[in-house]
Amino acid sequence: MNTIYSDGYPIYFENSLDELVKFIEQGKYSRFFVLCDEHTSVHCFPKLQEKISHIDNHDLIEVSAGEECKNIDFCIGVWKMLIDFGADRKALMINLGGGVITDMGGFAASTYKRGIDFVQVPTTLLSQVDASVGGKTGIDVDSVKNIIGTFTQPKAVFIDYDFLSTLPERQMLSGLAEMLKHGLILDAAYWNQLKAADLTHPPAELIHASVILKNKVVLEDPTEQNIRKSLNFGHTIGHAIETWSLTNDRNPLTHGEAIAIGMICEAYIANKRTGLSDAELAEIETVINGLYPHYKLKHEAYENIYSIMLKDKKNIDGKINCTLLDRIGQFNIDNICTKEEIFEAMNHYAGH
Ligand code: NAD
Ligand code: ZN
Repeated sequence: MNTIYSDGYPIYFENSLDELVKFIEQGKYSRFFVLCDEHTSVHCFPKLQEKISHIDNHDLIEVSAGEECKNIDFCIGVWKMLIDFGADRKALMINLGGGVITDMGGFAASTYKRGIDFVQVPTTLLSQVDASVGGKTGIDVDSVKNIIGTFTQPKAVFIDYDFLSTLPERQMLSGLAEMLKHGLILDAAYWNQLKAADLTHPPAELIHASVILKNKVVLEDPTEQNIRKSLNFGHTIGHAIETWSLTNDRNPLTHGEAIAIGMICEAYIANKRTGLSDAELAEIETVINGLYPHYKLKHEAYENIYSIMLKDKKNIDGKINCTLLDRIGQFNIDNICTKEEIFEAMNHYAGH
């Protein structure tokens, strides 16, 4: 699997950790900091530590795990650690973790002393196929997702498939939702390959293919003026359901589980609005429902979910903006959706 080139930086797939060591050994940096969460410090850091044991100018920064930690308080914690460790402008941040770590670490690095270099070492499927590529960094505020952030490209991305061996199955399925999305919006043949694969353990080649698809989009439209909006398929409704779930459910949905629901809802709207056929809508639902447990979407939550959607940064003039599908493999951006359409779509998913 070849190295992929993005907006001025490489995305390594083969011998990635050795590539990371080479990158560090080039000696451009005064010191480097590995940002982990409490799980990646146990499951992933030792593997990296083995490779860098001969290099002594580094420190580990560990934060608690989970979306609840992707906020300004934890970010201040990271900045304070950088200050305490005496990080100067030539320091490097290595974000070793899932999307929470790559987003928040990227944000902390891109703002510390007006920006220090960082690299992404994604350890979840979701961060490998999505979050680590494309230069979006950010944190949540009061559970409004990714509302504060920057577009800053990492210096490199190092994807090591072996990190996925310790990833819980539920997290694997979470990342899979973004792979399914890449097929649905961009490439029907890839969608068909996914349908035929063992999706509980997606092979490295399919992960590589997913990154190629995402990278093509972000290269063409780095700041989301047009085609990058395609990546928002499933996310307008999905993000709002995810946010609602995070504050209301004892065992909240993962990002991918919420996006899977969002994709069914938005495919339903696409069937009414942009010509997605009945057969393809049914196919999408069969695949997604076969992979993810059904979520009890409560009718009394709709108004709340809708008001969360109104705060979405993708909205135009206060109107809710969805990416839909014309057919599998062909997206359709900038569709203003009404409250009635959204409620009807949620009813369709929930079976109300
Ligand atoms: P996450 O970072 O919370 O990781 C999920 C869980 O897996 C955590 O408990 C983590 O500690 C654990 N984990 C990570 N690697 C592991 C490993 N190898 N073995 C065992 N456990 C491991 O969540 P995520 O799903 O990776 O990412 C979700 C986040 O990504 C969201 O905040 C979302 O907004 C963001 N995101 C960003 C972009 C972007 O373009 N920047 C794109 C998609 C998603
Ligand atoms: Zn996503």
